[in-house]
Amino acid sequence: MSFDSLGLSAELLSAVADQGYSEPTPVQRQAIPIILEGHDIMAGAQTGTGKTAGFTLPLLQRLSTSHGKKKRAVRALILTPTRELAAQVSESVETYGKHLSLKSAAVFGGVSINPQIQKLRRGVDILIATPGRLLDHVGQGTVDLSALEVLVLDEADRMLDMGFIHDIRRVLKLLPTQRQNLMFSATFSDEIKRLANGILSQPKLIEA
Ligand code: AMP
Repeated sequence: MSFDSLGLSAELLSAVADQGYSEPTPVQRQAIPIILEGHDIMAGAQTGTGKTAGFTLPLLQRLSTSHGKKKRAVRALILTPTRELAAQVSESVETYGKHLSLKSAAVFGGVSINPQIQKLRRGVDILIATPGRLLDHVGQGTVDLSALEVLVLDEADRMLDMGFIHDIRRVLKLLPTQRQNLMFSATFSDEIKRLANGILSQPKLIEA
């Protein structure tokens, strides 16, 4: 099976081809069409399964085909547990979105906040963030999440293991209730299921 039948645009297929990928991985095959249809998903996927492209490609497509309000605003938020993962996901967003005119930024702790603020001021469509630093930005008024359309929780189980549940709940209160939610987790504890129940609306389940 090739990428061509998943419903992705020519710009995205071209970026995928540039990466040298010949066929979608199982999680990509399952997730991409469902996300493009606008559904919420709960996906069981480990690192190395291709999950990042699995949510990034359809996310980019959604944002590039439906234009939000005229002014650039954060329309997608990808939450990750660590700055390493935030940086990695940010790189994937840039790579797969290279033929589109969307802008992205990554904000995470452990580094100076000022360069992040400057980048945010120039306007971003897609924000990749660790929960604590995201809340710092919200507190400083440098991030506005009121135009959000898609929320991604990447490695949700690790975020809970690292004690981010309260931060995540605070972030959720800042988001419009009408939005698409994509949740990825390698494991399914009761705590993860509770979090999923509180966030996802009629999710499609994906096991890769
Ligand atoms: P991830 O699970 O998202 O961290 O991705 C793991 C690795 O697989 C990354 O280095 C990707 O560049 C690579 N990858 C993602 N999708 C594909 C694909 N369809 N074919 C080959 N490699 C891929």
